Amino acid sequence: MKSVIALLGRPNVGKSTLFNRLTRSRDALVADHAGLTRDRIYGHVRDDNAQFILIDTGGLTNETDSMSELMRKQAALAIDEADLMVFLVDGRAGLLPADEEIARLLRNVGKPVLLVINKSEGEQRELVAAEFYSMGLGEPVVISATQGRGIDRLLNHITNILPETLPELIVESEPDEEEDSTIRLAIVGRPNVGKSTLVNRLLGEERVVAFDAPGTTRDSIYIPFEKDGTQYTFIDTAGVRRRSKVSEALEKFSVVKTLQAVEAANVVMLVVDAQEGIVDQDLHLAGLIIESGRAVVIAVNKWDGLEKQEREWVASNIERRLPFLTFAKTHFISALHGSGVGLLLKSVKQAYQAALTKIPTSRLTRVLEDAIADHPPPLVNGRRIKYRFAHLGGKNPPRVIIHGNQTEATPQSYRRYLENYFRTTLKLHGTPVMVEFKTSE
Ligand code: GDP
Ligand code: GDP
Repeated sequence: MKSVIALLGRPNVGKSTLFNRLTRSRDALVADHAGLTRDRIYGHVRDDNAQFILIDTGGLTNETDSMSELMRKQAALAIDEADLMVFLVDGRAGLLPADEEIARLLRNVGKPVLLVINKSEGEQRELVAAEFYSMGLGEPVVISATQGRGIDRLLNHITNILPETLPELIVESEPDEEEDSTIRLAIVGRPNVGKSTLVNRLLGEERVVAFDAPGTTRDSIYIPFEKDGTQYTFIDTAGVRRRSKVSEALEKFSVVKTLQAVEAANVVMLVVDAQEGIVDQDLHLAGLIIESGRAVVIAVNKWDGLEKQEREWVASNIERRLPFLTFAKTHFISALHGSGVGLLLKSVKQAYQAALTKIPTSRLTRVLEDAIADHPPPLVNGRRIKYRFAHLGGKNPPRVIIHGNQTEATPQSYRRYLENYFRTTLKLHGTPVMVEFKTSE
């Protein structure tokens, strides 16, 4: 499971600035998709040597108004879910009583704390750090979030504390023989959309009884099952399978656990509620799924009990609000009655195969040549961008690396065109495709 880091500190010390800097890949991805709202609290950090989930916590204050209360709750939740707490302080403001209070709180949690001093530009590291030693939190890391100073050092410290974050993307280290591999499936959605009902239906009733017996594998989070000769592993970090009451579902819902399940999966099934339509929380989850690059199947649940007109409205609402998920197959189902459920796993399997497909360089290059012939790249400073060949640089999602001259000048719109061209021509249904460029001189 991917590690979780919580960003804590007083308001105004630069937490969101640091959050944005560390999760910047997300900005690029989100900018790419109109209609996608950005979640400013949860983010993925994907650096070459540091991979984790980051939570921003608003800010901790002594004030007692309802806003501060809300932030305190958010911080408590984040602390609860974190493997490491990054405690950010303001090097310009110096050590304030509120910092000491937070330090006391964090020392009592019993989880590792990394002290980080922000706003250090133009100052000497040792000087900025000196007064903060008194908090007894060890050697601080000195950074400037706005200027990017010390960020690499910070990431190194983080990886040292969390060495298990290093071997990232289980998917990439998977054996090439896919015959005996199992499809890792995460089922996600906001509370009450029908995830547990669906999971129980997919896994089969006996299975649920067996797993719920006291003293058995109650806490197992990887649940293998077989369907039509295909092996699946259902990833249940969020406790979806065990829920019995609706109130329990609301209590247990955790974005972090959802994200961990997404990260550990090959294919994500996003469940939405047809009777309520797409709401902002669905969009946040969709955004986080998009950023993960995982293959996706959409299950529009509670399709029962809707009039024809309502169904038409719901279908168009989904298309309109989730345009960035058009690569995903959408199923209209009733987990309660079972209609449509049988076909879901077919799409999961298809998406999995597309996401992990092997495509030879010769084939990719031919498709690239066809794409260019159909629609040549634009001129940049009077010269045409030249693409030479394409090779597969990764899977789940497939990453197509295109080599050539001035490739970095490729406009977004043309990159999108190429992504779509590769996806449709190679029939990569259910997975995003990423096109990246390399310029060779
Ligand atoms: P948060 O309340 O902890 O999330 O703090 P913000 O990220 O909103 O930052 C508060 C203010 O500090 C903003 O005006 C930022 O531009 C500024 N700030 C953040 N990081 C730095 C930094 O490294 N140096 C300086 N000089 N200002 C910073
Ligand atoms: P979760 O929080 O996403 O796991 O949702 P649950 O599976 O606990 O379901 C929440 C509520 O929706 C329960 O009362 C279910 O009986 C109901 N529900 C689940 N699936 C369906 C469905 O297909 N149709 C209808 N009408 N209700 C459903």
